[in-house]
Amino acid sequence: MTSQKIGIYPGTFDPITNGHADIIGRAARVLDKLVVGVAINPGKGPIFTIDERVELVREEIAHLDNSNGGMIEIIPFQSLLIHFAREVEATVIVRGLRAVSDFDYEFQMASMNAKMAPDIETLCLMASDKYHFIASSLVKEIAKLNGDVSQFVSPRIQERLSERLGG
Ligand code: ADP
Repeated sequence: MTSQKIGIYPGTFDPITNGHADIIGRAARVLDKLVVGVAINPGKGPIFTIDERVELVREEIAHLDNSNGGMIEIIPFQSLLIHFAREVEATVIVRGLRAVSDFDYEFQMASMNAKMAPDIETLCLMASDKYHFIASSLVKEIAKLNGDVSQFVSPRIQERLSERLGG
């Protein structure tokens, strides 16, 4: 049993937005180690493959590593979240809460996970005011219609979105 406080931040990250990156940086500051769990999630019909999503997360947070306190690892996963959490010895599940609309789902998921794994705590970080309205799904909709997403994602992600979706 490790004495390190390890957290896991699971998501689809299709693609990673400024909002996700903000949560990663903040969570890493309060944990010894943060595992960003990129869910393979074929059911959500991601536009980027699992390898692409992992790579994009890696590129986006490269500047956070070492300078930000806790270490950060990025790992794809397909299993039940609490099983994956146990695999990486995480005792904390990190989620980002944007609006009241996120609350119901997050509350229900946290409660079910707590029933199955009472030793694993869900920790919700409030979205920063700068990013609370950003959702990957809307970013993709805007990019598909050739809208400007530069306020929501990094220039690198913006470019990848227009390669993938732009006309
Ligand atoms: P999922 O498929 O689990 O919803 P997402 O990649 O959409 O995966 O989101 C992963 C987590 O990041 C969720 O907890 C979500 O609420 C949070 N999140 C998404 N966008 C933001 C944002 N702009 N600010 C803060 N948290 C966010």
